Amino acid sequence: MNQGSPRILVVEDEPSQSEVLSYNLNIEGYDVFNAETGEEALLVLEETEIDLIILDWMLPEISGLEVCRQIKSNERHKRIPIIMLTARGEEEDKVRGLNLGASDFVTKPYSTKELLARVRSSLRDHSDINIDILTYGSLRMDVVAHLVTVSDVKVSLGPIEFKLLRILLENPKKVFSRDQLLARVWHNNLNVETRTVDVHIGRLRKQLGEMSSVDFIRTVRGFGYSLDLE
Ligand code: CA
Repeated sequence: MNQGSPRILVVEDEPSQSEVLSYNLNIEGYDVFNAETGEEALLVLEETEIDLIILDWMLPEISGLEVCRQIKSNERHKRIPIIMLTARGEEEDKVRGLNLGASDFVTKPYSTKELLARVRSSLRDHSDINIDILTYGSLRMDVVAHLVTVSDVKVSLGPIEFKLLRILLENPKKVFSRDQLLARVWHNNLNVETRTVDVHIGRLRKQLGEMSSVDFIRTVRGFGYSLDLE
C-alpha cells in the first residue's frame, strides 16, 4: 500500500452517484480517483498506484464484469481488491463476478455506511499483500519471507505469535483489546477464550525477550495489549 492515504478508484458512469460516493470516501480520508468507463479505469491504473477499486457493473462500452476480468488478468494490477456495485441481486451474477476475482459485492441501492465498512474490510484483508516490511524499534518483520528479527537476529515464532505480532506491528502504540485480537487472529472462533490471547501474548513476549532485554509489549491491565517501548 502506498504510504499516504489509501487510494481508491471509483469506476461509475453516473455523475451523481460517483460524486456522492467520492465525497463520502474523501471524508473518510481516502484519496479518490474517478473513471467513467472501463477504458478510463485502465488508464488510471497505468498511471497511479491504486489500493482498491469500486467498480460499477453497469458501464457503457465495456461492462464492469469485463473490466474486472481485464484487471485480474493483468500481472501488475491483479492483487488490487475490487468491490463491485451491482443493481442485480442474482446469485448467479455474484458467482460470475467472484469467479473473476472480485473481492466483494454491494447491491444498489446501498447504504454509504455499509459500503464504507466493506471498503475498510477489503483494504485490511489485502494489506498483507501490499506491506512487505514492518518495523518498530529494533524489531523487523518481513511479511513475505515470514521472517522476524530483533537487532538483525532471527526470532522463531509460532504461527499464532506471528499473526499477533503482525497486527501489533501494523499499528504500533495502538492498544488492542483482547476481543479485537481474538477476532483478528482466531476469526471469532467460539471455542477460543480471551485467556488464550494472554497465553499467546505471553509466548510472544518470551520469544522476543530471548533476543533482547527490551520489552516490546505493553499490557493494559484488564483490557489488552499494544506494541510500545515506553
Ligand atoms: Ca452505472
